[in-house]
Amino acid sequence: MSAPTMIGILGGGQLGRMLALAGYPLGFRFRFLDTAPDAPTGPLGELFVGDFRDSEVLARFLDSVDVVTYEVETIPEATARFAEERCPVRPGPRALAVSQDRLVEKRFLESVGVPIAAFAAVESVEELRDGLAATGLPAVLKTRRLGYDGRGQCVVRTWEDAARAYQSLGGADLILERFVPFDREVSILSVRGLDGEVRFYPLVENRHEGGILRLSRAPAPASTDLQAEAERFARAVLENLDYAGVLAIEFFQLGDRLFANEMAPRVHNSGHWTIEGAETSQFENHLRAICGYPLGSTQCVGRSAMVNLIGTVPSTQAILSVPGAHLHLYGKTEKPGRKLGHVTLRDDDPESLRAGVERITAAVGAALDPV
Ligand code: AMP
Repeated sequence: MSAPTMIGILGGGQLGRMLALAGYPLGFRFRFLDTAPDAPTGPLGELFVGDFRDSEVLARFLDSVDVVTYEVETIPEATARFAEERCPVRPGPRALAVSQDRLVEKRFLESVGVPIAAFAAVESVEELRDGLAATGLPAVLKTRRLGYDGRGQCVVRTWEDAARAYQSLGGADLILERFVPFDREVSILSVRGLDGEVRFYPLVENRHEGGILRLSRAPAPASTDLQAEAERFARAVLENLDYAGVLAIEFFQLGDRLFANEMAPRVHNSGHWTIEGAETSQFENHLRAICGYPLGSTQCVGRSAMVNLIGTVPSTQAILSVPGAHLHLYGKTEKPGRKLGHVTLRDDDPESLRAGVERITAAVGAALDPV
């Protein structure tokens, strides 16, 4: 019998934790590299602690695994290139490079035929002025790098707003985007295997507050045309990047049109419902893909809703008293705005699913409108 595949995950957060939880039943083993000694993956496999740019710790980590993947897209591209010389890195470094810079990402999406809202690079006050002429007002000014969960961005409604935001965001390495008055936000999770096979999960409807995902509902009520369009866009990205693994693309929907907001070269928060709500979870499918195994079915098992637990951990008693609630806690300490866990509800009946979400949001203390 051959030794179990040792999967190395760059990043030790909740996504790495859920990857490992999905991978143990298949016989995979895991090692993690993270900067934090108390990373959420701690209980699930050996944790190497160090900076992603530290070639000594990186080399030790890489020499101890068979394949490398990542659970955050802030891993430096140089780290992925260094890793690639020692073992397979999936998805490859190009996917990482494209998705960690909003400007590169927008240009890439445009180049493969994925619609996006008007945008402009901003490196100076002149470019800010020209950019606003192109996007119109309101617009959103964002840092090109390291912005996530609504951080590093400002909605600007006037020239004065824009000038202030420009200063507060550092005055360089910025991107200006047209503000999309979307009807709703949706995302598509897709997966591509080493042999090029591609599968798609159904569109998910997402509700953000303060830039952070609060609630996902799957499948999103959507026409087959909308689903087909999202699949076409995801396929274009996957094939162009010769991608292996799970990819998420977030869209703004305006009428029957989709505009991509961003992509994530990894498993994604809007796919957590797949643990209970799909034949094969996004986590298992990512592992199957990067290890060269056949992909699993992406069929839904009924309807699901996922509520994120943000800032404070609610009472386990209160959550588990809601029939059908599946609680996932990430083992993180409480902090405002931090994702600490999620709850998935599965119910074939839309009315009782809605009632369940209301009970969960009440237990969480969130003031979300019901789905
Ligand atoms: P992001 O960090 O780019 O995913 O943005 C976080 C959230 O801010 C999105 O999910 C939207 O709700 C909102 N947002 C970002 N960019 C835009 C935009 N161009 N137009 C409208 N809303 C936006």
